[in-house]
Amino acid sequence: MNAVKTTCPYCGVGCGVLAAPRKDGGADISGDPQHPSNFGKLCVKGSALGETLGDHGRLLYPQMHGERVGWDAALDHVAQGFRKIIDEHGPDAVALYVSGQLLTEDYYVANKLMKGYVGTANIDTNSRLCMSSAVAGHKRAFGEDLVPISYEDLELADLVVLVGSNTAWCHPILFQRIVKAKEQRPEMKIVVLDPRRTATCELADLHLPLRAGTDVTLFNGLLTYLHQHGVVDTKFVDGHTTDVERTLAIADNTAGDLRSVARACRIEPSVLGEFYRMFARTEKAITAFSMGVNQSGAGTDKVNSIINCHLLTGRIGKPGMGPFSITGQPNAMGGREVGGLANMLAAHMELANPTHREIVQEFWKSPAIVAKQGLKAVDLFNAIDEGKVKAVWIMATNPVVSLPDADKVKSALSKCELVVVSDIIEKTDTAAYAHVLLPAAGWGEKDGTVTNSDRRISRQRAFLPLPGEAKPDWWIIGEVAKRMGYAEGFNFSGAHEVFDEHARLSAYRNEGSRCFDINGLSGLDRQGFDAMDPIQWPVLADAKGTPRLFENGRYFHADGKARFIPTPPRGPAHATDAEFPLVLNTGRIRDQWHTMTRTGRSPKLASHIPEPFVDMHPHDALMSGVRDGELVRVATRWGALVARLKTTPEQGRGAVFVPIHWNNQFASDARVGALVNPAVDPVSGEPEFKHTPVRVEAF
Ligand code: SF4
Repeated sequence: MNAVKTTCPYCGVGCGVLAAPRKDGGADISGDPQHPSNFGKLCVKGSALGETLGDHGRLLYPQMHGERVGWDAALDHVAQGFRKIIDEHGPDAVALYVSGQLLTEDYYVANKLMKGYVGTANIDTNSRLCMSSAVAGHKRAFGEDLVPISYEDLELADLVVLVGSNTAWCHPILFQRIVKAKEQRPEMKIVVLDPRRTATCELADLHLPLRAGTDVTLFNGLLTYLHQHGVVDTKFVDGHTTDVERTLAIADNTAGDLRSVARACRIEPSVLGEFYRMFARTEKAITAFSMGVNQSGAGTDKVNSIINCHLLTGRIGKPGMGPFSITGQPNAMGGREVGGLANMLAAHMELANPTHREIVQEFWKSPAIVAKQGLKAVDLFNAIDEGKVKAVWIMATNPVVSLPDADKVKSALSKCELVVVSDIIEKTDTAAYAHVLLPAAGWGEKDGTVTNSDRRISRQRAFLPLPGEAKPDWWIIGEVAKRMGYAEGFNFSGAHEVFDEHARLSAYRNEGSRCFDINGLSGLDRQGFDAMDPIQWPVLADAKGTPRLFENGRYFHADGKARFIPTPPRGPAHATDAEFPLVLNTGRIRDQWHTMTRTGRSPKLASHIPEPFVDMHPHDALMSGVRDGELVRVATRWGALVARLKTTPEQGRGAVFVPIHWNNQFASDARVGALVNPAVDPVSGEPEFKHTPVRVEAF
């Protein structure tokens, strides 16, 4: 069999992959030279995809209470269990918790079932932990969740500011594109804003090791600086934005002069001044941000404080400039498109908008359409713990490891009446709490689409047979829906039919009032869907993609204008104190993905960093009475873990870093989620993974 073109299942860069199946059941993996995200390159995780294939550890058959059963018995049990709880307690007593690992088609069917048929918006996703602050910031500023630029713009920029993003490790191929652009144009400047000196800083002309949580102050200070120095695109601001004066006044009042900003952010005034001058004089500037911005109790304000600076200077909608959210997961964006978040409808339409609800219900011909938001991830598991949500179906994610206050998630699931888990792996930390386990198709076995960080829809294609009795998620959800009495809405014969319905809904009664429109991709049959090339939405009737948004200066608020959003700085939810004097920061390492259920199978990837660790500044280690190389106990008010201490001056003083990946399969008691405080951003609901008061002590 020839190599099949598909897409990497890990990060939001969305690299094209060529997978050539072998007779032994594995596959030879290489980068797709024709894919516009990566042009043939793969990072170490993508290159090791072949090592993660195979049946070892796979969930191959449906199970109920630990016993193998047939699909009919398992599906009937799930459908009847959900139906009984809905009949007795109402639709809000059930929930789905899904994942950026799902394909868009899986997400679409799950969202349709809950919001159009069951009648609850209790469907949230692990993307809530990743980029929901960016979604909320985009919607506040642009009227819709829209990423203005393309990867090509990063190569055209004269200044790339990377905020809260270890791009070198977390989005390696995108980082390599920036490295190459800088090699070709050494005058291109790179600035990194990050409390840690990460691998990304090796490329930086300037590193600002700002104090955790002070990003809003820093960007309010930049806004004030730009205004005071006349770096304002008055024509753009007057013609295409609102609320500039109020926003400037609040930024000015709260940030103060450069020295007070530098003091608040704990940066040398000369370094801060250099950054402000650099930004002020460079027209082609991109501010790219990731989890250091999003995963905060003030994540949405951080996003808007960045966008405000681009609006003031008119640096948006033109080549080489704009704000840019780098998404974490392979299909966080696709989930957003179909409304796979508890506060969204479908095709970027709004739950709170009666016309949008009417459009979606009319298109779906569904018996219900929800009007009120559902429970966001942290609240959802709290509601399970409190007995308000009595049945939950978890798909392709491992919340017992990944959610904040993760021991509470364990407690919640152990009390829940019905826990259904669909996964590719049999023994995960979360699967241990399942009453019903459903074997899902994995990467290389399932068919559908994903959307990457620059709005590019790419196909994931199957190149391996389904193992055991595994099935695609869209099929599993559809079969449960049919057994709940909703057959008319779920008669899909393949992923291509789901995608077609999604594409048609995006254009239904849309006369340009909504940006997300992929009507140019509707009408594809199985063959057409199979042949689909990567393309950036919107894709209108001419079937051409759209590399850059807002070139016409039109935004998607009713008046067509973008909004400045005032962002008074707010501190983190929990401050350090004598008992917990340091700040716990969590994040990824280069060679692992999420909770390691897949990358943990690769010996090559494990050899990079084989065990969990704590990074700490040598001075803080001295003050805490711990030494480099020894096992230490890391404790917060919510939990504790034991890991090996690495002292390094690259970790800023006053904070420690612990990776998110290790689960109980690979290291006991190393789930950092159990230590993270459950505070969330009040707008986006995204948890504050970057700021939990912590103590490190000898073990
Ligand atoms: Fe996969 Fe991301 Fe690496 Fe590309 S950069 S190969 S999408 S993990």
